Order: sequence, then C-alpha cells, then structure tokens
Amino acid sequence: MPDADERIRRLERRIARERSARAEAEALLEAKSRELYDLNQQLGRFAAELEGRVEERTRELACAREHALELAERDQLTGLANRTRFTRALEESIVASRRDGRRFALFLLDLDRFKDINDSLGHEAGDVFLQRTARRLRLIFGRDAVVARLGGDEFAALLPARPETDLVRIGESVIRAVRRPLPHRGRSLEASCSIGIAVFPEDARSGSDLQRFADIALYRSKASRGVATRFDPAMSRAIEARHALGSDFVQAIRDGGIEPWFQPIVDGASCRTVGVEALARWTHPTLGFLSPAAFLGLAEERGLMHDLFAAMMRRACPLARTWIRAGRLDYLSINLSPSQFKLGSVADDVIALLAELDFPPQALTVEVTEEVLLNDLARARVQLERLAAHGVRIALDDFGIGYSNIGYLRQLPIQTLKLDRLLTQDVATEHKARSILSAIVQIARALDLHMVSEGVEDSSQALWLTHLGCRSLQGYLFGRPMPADAFATHLGLDPLRRIA
Ligand SMILES: [Mg+2]
Repeated sequence: MPDADERIRRLERRIARERSARAEAEALLEAKSRELYDLNQQLGRFAAELEGRVEERTRELACAREHALELAERDQLTGLANRTRFTRALEESIVASRRDGRRFALFLLDLDRFKDINDSLGHEAGDVFLQRTARRLRLIFGRDAVVARLGGDEFAALLPARPETDLVRIGESVIRAVRRPLPHRGRSLEASCSIGIAVFPEDARSGSDLQRFADIALYRSKASRGVATRFDPAMSRAIEARHALGSDFVQAIRDGGIEPWFQPIVDGASCRTVGVEALARWTHPTLGFLSPAAFLGLAEERGLMHDLFAAMMRRACPLARTWIRAGRLDYLSINLSPSQFKLGSVADDVIALLAELDFPPQALTVEVTEEVLLNDLARARVQLERLAAHGVRIALDDFGIGYSNIGYLRQLPIQTLKLDRLLTQDVATEHKARSILSAIVQIARALDLHMVSEGVEDSSQALWLTHLGCRSLQGYLFGRPMPADAFATHLGLDPLRRIA
C-alpha cells in the first residue's frame, strides 16, 4: 500500500511545515510584544517628562505672578510698601484684630521742610534722603511692622501694639532717627518729621476713621513740628466744631452776616475825622460775637479771604460814599490779605469791585502788610502798581514790627505808612521811642509818605505824635471800631439817613 506510506509522509511534512510556521508566528508575536512593551515604556517616560515640564512651568508662572504682584505693591524709589499694599495690610490687620482682639497702631509721618532739600540741593538729593529715611524707618519699626510710603514725603507704619507699649516714645525715637544728619556728596541732608498716632480698636472702629484720626493727630504735631502726638477724641471734637464754624462762616459771607465796623482815622492837628478803617465783625447766630482772630484764620484756611474782602467792600463802600458825599470823610481804608495776592488777579478784582459799587478809586486805601511783599515781591509789585495807576492808595500796615524793610518803601507805590502800636505806645514816656519815631518820620518825609499812627490811646501820646510830625492818628482815644450807625453819629450825621 504505497499510497498509505506516501500519505503518512505527506502528513508528516505538513505537520513539520505547520510547526515551523507556528514557531515563526510565535517568534514574530514575541518580537512584536517586545516592541510594544518598549514603546509603552517610552510613552510612559515621555508622559512623566511632560508632566514634570508642565509642573515646572506652572511653578514659574506662579513665581512670576507673585513677583509682579509684589512689584505692583512696592514703592519704586524706597522699596517700602506702597499705598495699595498699605491699604491691604490695614484691612488685614483690622480683620485679624476683630478675630483675636490684637490691637495695632497706625503711625502717619510727614517730613518737615523736606521741600527745602529738594529746592536747595535738587531732586536727586531729595530722593537719596527719602531712600535712607525709608531704611531708618524699617529698622526702627522692626520686622513686625508694615512700613509704607504713601507718596511724596508721607510715610505710614502699622505696628502691633500691646497695651503697655509706649507709642509716643516709639514715635519720638523715630523722629530722633530721622533727624540725624545724612552725609551726601559733602553736604549734610537734614529734615525732621512730625507723627500722628491712632490705635485700633480703641480710637477708631473702621480703617477710614483710624486714618482720619491719625491724620488729625499729625495735623496737631505739624503745628509745633518734630513731635509725635497720640490721637485724643477731644481733637476730633475741636476739629468738628471748627468745621461747623467754617460752614457757618461761608453762609455768613453769602448772607451778609459779616458786618463792617468802622474805626476813625483823625487828623492830629484839626481833630477832624479824615478816614475810616473798615474791620470785619461777625455775630454768630448761636455763639454770639466772635473776635476777628476766630474767623480770619478760617477764611485763610478755606481760601475765602477774597470773598470776605468783597463782602466787606459791598457793605462798606455804599456807606462810605454817603459819608464822603456829605463832606464828613475823605477816604475808606480796608485790609487786603496776603493770600489774595496769590491769585495774581487781585488788582483787577478790586478795580472791578470799585466799578460795580460806583466808588471813586481815589477814596479807597488798601492796607497791605509786609508779608505780601515777602511772599513774592515781583508779583506783589505788579498788582500794587496796577492799583496805584487806577488811583487807589496803598498803605503799608503794621510798619515797625517784623522786618520793616525800608527798601520796600522806595520800590513800591506806597503812599501811606501805618505805624504799628508797638512803635507809638511809649512815645510819651520814653526818649528812645521818640528818637526812633522821629527817624522814621524823617524817612517818611523824604519819601513823601503820609503817616498814620495806630494804637493812640491817650492825649499825651497824641500830642507827642503830632509834635513829631505824624499827621494822622488812629486808636481808642478817637474811637474804637463801631457799627455803621454809631460811626454815622460820630461823624455828626443822622444814622437813620445814612444811605441816600
Ligand atoms: Mg489795618
């Protein structure tokens, strides 16, 4: 059966072929598996690497953001916290204090006369001073404090404060540190500082109140300079009262509540009243009669000196015009404040008022003090010359106190010299006082100046002054400042018919 043998051989060959094919397939499968495994490993490594890189980049971004934030909250010049950071720190301190009862103090600092460094040594020196002052502040206040530059020469510090902490003493040591001279390019940079302190929560219940109260204390320190003041509720009451008085004053100017009172200026030889000085008086609806010292400061603070002047002119000029027309008076004298000269339009304003009130310029004397000239002589001269050219007379008031610079008398269109009471009060009793006065009279004569002596209180004083050559006299001897009615009577006029 050859066929059977043949079939067996064929079968065996097939089996062998299949075996080798399987082995081949297995080998291939194994190779592919290994390849896949390697690939998987590679992929894993790649994924881990990628994850690492993403993490690193995220960290970098977070750092950059933090840095940018820090920069945005840092003062570029001094490296201290800026106002934004300070505000945030204040809010955080308040939250923390409300949570666990920790108190903290707010120090507000302002350099005294820092402008002098900038003006005299330049802004570069000013910047150096600010930088080194910042360093000193950081050292003195220590690590626990947030020290900030709020702008210009204003600084602030937030400091944790235990009940026993003597805050004013800390303030004083800060002032001592700031005051130490700083050598810079062979020069010495020096400035002092003033400090106001308020404490959370006992002084204030909110951040804005705390800042306001520290500011009030600082304002108090600024008055004497180089001191540290802890806020006291009485300060804010005084400020509130002053604020209310300021509003009443604005109202009074608007409603005609400011009244001119009149003080006679008399010719010493004939005893005739030649002029009158109008002085502002205010009777407050609830506080009663207030001294000019009480409200002139308010007018200055609020920039109302010109409004006050205009209100006075509007009340005084119509009255004075009647008295002048009746032949009982030659001129009206009225004070111009130094602050009115800052506007640069004071001459035009006065001229416009004269036109509005139809008052003869020749019958108006404006009294200015030396302060006007000290502030800005060139500017003051322009204004005074304009007024003089218009016919208004200029008087230099309070001469004899302050510098009494005789040079002004030559450089400026001044026609009248008003001698302060300090020069005239001892004229009857003191030889020296007479000698000084007679020298001034000689100067005034040489410059063709009219003279008015203020503060004349008795007749021997009046006699001496007239004898020495001072023609016009003003003082209690001839009349105190009085309301319009009384002054009309003083002039021998019927007060009821004072306005024609
Ligand atoms: Mg005066």
